[in-house]
Amino acid sequence: MYPRLIQELIEAFSRFPGIGPRAGARFALYLTKVSGQEIDGLVSVLSRLKGEVGVCSFCFNLFDAKEQDHGNRCGICRNPGRSTVFLCVVEKE
Ligand SMILES: [Zn+2]
Repeated sequence: MYPRLIQELIEAFSRFPGIGPRAGARFALYLTKVSGQEIDGLVSVLSRLKGEVGVCSFCFNLFDAKEQDHGNRCGICRNPGRSTVFLCVVEKE
């Protein structure tokens, strides 16, 4: 029904948590209407995601991996003023 690339986009968005094929189709069709500049901006953000966002090796919190000397730990876990006795665990962010 849709061109192959649109179908691929719908399938990609449908893999997002809480997003089904109908919402995936809305996202894909929306993207056909935005400017090339907006698409480029989105592509730029996505391409930087893995390199610039780290997952803390201790608490799994996300942190800015471009920070110097992070040692794979988030700012909270690197803060020497915080207690290491207690750790608050939550299911989702
Ligand atoms: Zn942490």
